[in-house]
Amino acid sequence: MHNTFQKEIILPNEPERVKALRRYRLLGTYAEKSFINIANLVAEIFHASIAMISLVDAEEVSFQSNVGMNSTTGPRGESFCSLTVLRPEVNVVENALEDPIVAQNPLVCGDFGLRFYAGAPLITHDGFLIGTVCLVDTQPRKFSDHDRRVLEGLAKIVMEQIELRLSNLIDTEKLAATNDEEHAENHRLSQSQNELNDTIRQLSQSESRFQNLIRDATVGIIVLTGSEMRVEIVNDVYAKLIGRQARELMDQELFKLIPETEAYFRPLIDKVRMSGEPLDIYDTPYTVHHQGKRINGYLSAAYQPYRDNNGDIAGVMVFTHDVTDQVVSRFKLKEADEMTNMAIMAARLGAWHIEPVSKALVYNTTLARIFGYDKDSPMTYEQAIAQVTEEYRPSILKAIEKAIAEGGDYDVVYQQRRFNDSELIWLRSFGKVSPDINGNYTVFSGFVMDVTEQKKDEQRKNDFIGMVSHELKTPLTSLKAIIQLCSVKLKNNADPFLNDAMGKANIQVKRMTAMINGFLNISRLESGKILIEKSAFDISRLIQDILDESMLTTSSQAIEFIPADEIWVNADRDKTGSVISNLLSNAVKYSFKDKPVLVTCKRAGENVVVSIQDFGMGIKPEHLDHIFERYYRVKDDYTRHISGFGIGLYLSSEIVHRHGGKIGVDSERGKGSTFWFSLPLI
Ligand code: ADP
Repeated sequence: MHNTFQKEIILPNEPERVKALRRYRLLGTYAEKSFINIANLVAEIFHASIAMISLVDAEEVSFQSNVGMNSTTGPRGESFCSLTVLRPEVNVVENALEDPIVAQNPLVCGDFGLRFYAGAPLITHDGFLIGTVCLVDTQPRKFSDHDRRVLEGLAKIVMEQIELRLSNLIDTEKLAATNDEEHAENHRLSQSQNELNDTIRQLSQSESRFQNLIRDATVGIIVLTGSEMRVEIVNDVYAKLIGRQARELMDQELFKLIPETEAYFRPLIDKVRMSGEPLDIYDTPYTVHHQGKRINGYLSAAYQPYRDNNGDIAGVMVFTHDVTDQVVSRFKLKEADEMTNMAIMAARLGAWHIEPVSKALVYNTTLARIFGYDKDSPMTYEQAIAQVTEEYRPSILKAIEKAIAEGGDYDVVYQQRRFNDSELIWLRSFGKVSPDINGNYTVFSGFVMDVTEQKKDEQRKNDFIGMVSHELKTPLTSLKAIIQLCSVKLKNNADPFLNDAMGKANIQVKRMTAMINGFLNISRLESGKILIEKSAFDISRLIQDILDESMLTTSSQAIEFIPADEIWVNADRDKTGSVISNLLSNAVKYSFKDKPVLVTCKRAGENVVVSIQDFGMGIKPEHLDHIFERYYRVKDDYTRHISGFGIGLYLSSEIVHRHGGKIGVDSERGKGSTFWFSLPLI
């Protein structure tokens, strides 16, 4: 800034001063009417051609309203007003030419020809000098004290106007701001009103959703509030548990409805309510009484504290689950388990379990006792197998492997040595390999029982049968010889009775012989003493011989045999004969007199197949697998009255198998059976 005065025109408080000026927001605005009026008044009062209200800004002086001036601004360094704002009093230059401070000023020495200046500063309420009310003349003038006071007064009026204007401005702005704020507030209010409505709607939605959730839940739910445990929410599942309807329970104090449960359940709920800690109970029995009925069962429950908005525990939510069925079936299972255990103990059954892959063995104390195992370390599978006698070990191992590989039953009778005294014992072991949930056979378990005594009994029985049969054979052979002798001697005797009697005696002796042979064979089989004495013979001839003999023994039933060519086999003739006799006598025994029995004998590849067909009662499928077993007999309405021991087919199959042949039956109940066996040809 170029200062044309011989005086410093910037004071130290300049920045604050400029700030004070600018806060009135007058610069750059049009002169307001009130200020123009005052400028006119100044000109009028002082008879001045130029009067104005000026504002002294940092660089410029703005002539806010003026009379007689063409320009609206001037440089601060040239304007006399710059001097007026230096001190808080009226500044008068009566003759500029005589004042050294201003004499150099271009307004003074230039064309304008300024000679007189009087200005009163505009002083803000906080003491800043921001502008002037002034008058200018091109003639030197006198300015009295009175003039000064008038000018000072006018400056004060202007300043008041300025302050007033500002405060109006601020008020208006405030008002506008307030309006805005109010508007915004209203907007906010209506927004939050909407939000509130939304929330209420959502709340009611979620409440009804919550209610629905509870109502449709598959577990029983009840919400109890306060120490009185009043039912706030409850669903039907819960109500059903105590034999009521949900609506009967609402708003009631729970333990007034079911006081019989209070002693047990109230302390639980109280504990949760007081401590705020959830609690679970399992398989708890409960009993309630309702309308003279007793309802009881087992329940599992989860107790959960719930809090109000302040975080205080308001009550307890209870989730219940009726576990009566599970608990009852568990009890039953336990009972059954105990029964099984008792049965195992009573039957003195040893129980075992073999892990199919590792062959780890688990067993009970009875098994250890049976095995005579008294060591501290557990018995291993290998140890157990090693005790089995050489004779049975391969078949036992095979049976175990088969069971593990194919699943299914395992049932073996074998001999082994006891661990402690090396005594030979007979054992029957039976078990099952069951598949696990993945279908792998993993559970191989079963029982073992000591059958030594039974075996001994059987042995004694066999020995007895063998001995008796053997003892009977000798007198029977003599009897047979005597009868045959008598028959020859009586050949020419005229008495038909004696002839007939001898014939019948002969038949009975033959029957008896066959029977005794059967028993003898059985006992030999059992003790492994049966001998197959092979010789070459024509089996066709054998059949014919047997038929010829049986024609004599059977009464009326037709037996048809179309003799084949000679078919030679290498076998035990007697025993093969007994097989044929057996099958023939069964065909007669289990069919009807008016139906024939058909016998055939044919070659089939390397074998001969003999078959005996009857049109009798036939055999039900469920028996077919068993009829070749020892002592197996079918006992139904047809066969009940037919006597027998169930050893004929057993013996026959043993004999055939020992020849390397096969034996079987095709049969249909009510239509008849075809028994057949095959033997290898020579
Ligand atoms: P038994 O005849 O002495 O009972 P078997 O061992 O010869 O003994 O026969 C066993 C069972 O097989 C008989 O009890 C009978 O039920 C049945 N059976 C044998 N042969 C026939 C057949 N031809 N027809 C119907 N059932 C038969």
